[in-house]
Amino acid sequence: MLQQAAAIGKYPWRILRPLCAAGTFCSESIPIIALGLRVEIYSGASGNQMRQKCRFIDMLRAVCPGSFDPLHNGHVEVIARASSLFDEVIVAVSKNPSKKPRFSLEERMDMARETMTLLRGITVEPMGEGLLAEFCRDHGAGVIVKGLRSAVDYNYEVPMAAMNRQLTGVETVFLSADSHYTHLSSTLLKEVSGLGGDISDYVPRAVYKRLKDTR
Ligand code: ADP
Repeated sequence: MLQQAAAIGKYPWRILRPLCAAGTFCSESIPIIALGLRVEIYSGASGNQMRQKCRFIDMLRAVCPGSFDPLHNGHVEVIARASSLFDEVIVAVSKNPSKKPRFSLEERMDMARETMTLLRGITVEPMGEGLLAEFCRDHGAGVIVKGLRSAVDYNYEVPMAAMNRQLTGVETVFLSADSHYTHLSSTLLKEVSGLGGDISDYVPRAVYKRLKDTR
């Protein structure tokens, strides 16, 4: 049993709802999927009390992480689909100095912000230096959304998803890449654009302009 006034947990409303409805609450043996949503659990609280306490968490926030150097339409398509599945989406832009990015963090964030202005419920934030799992926890996001282009992406992403879940309980949801964009990567687009190829079908306007200017 949970101890008196006791546990601060991360229980999603869809898990809590049936417990609240039943009027009882609090058995640690109930399998709980931690979706990164914080709620205080009080042992012995009535269904109504819990319903009041939990109302504010009836929302799912997701994070779409990446270095987005630069953002392309494969990314945008996955982010837009994520925003139709979740109430809020944070596009988390990583510094990723190991990849020697073409665009600075500020430029990459500006391009993403300009592109996302017309999409509701999407914000763009710098990821900072720490772990993605901690970023999600600190921003109240219970889900990471990743686009999968191929088995190569899958094999790379699955261990990371398991590690993130073990670190903070954050879940990873995979969306299969749209068939128009499975061949896209930021690296390929930079190469093609650098050699004068037309990439206007593959990148948002804000990115196209900058890639052309920095050829
Ligand atoms: P990284 O995180 O390795 O820097 P990117 O910034 O290029 O990678 O991409 C961020 C995320 O976007 C990837 O983890 C992947 O989930 C997704 N992604 C990349 N390319 C595509 C694509 N063509 N279609 C769908 N999703 C993609």
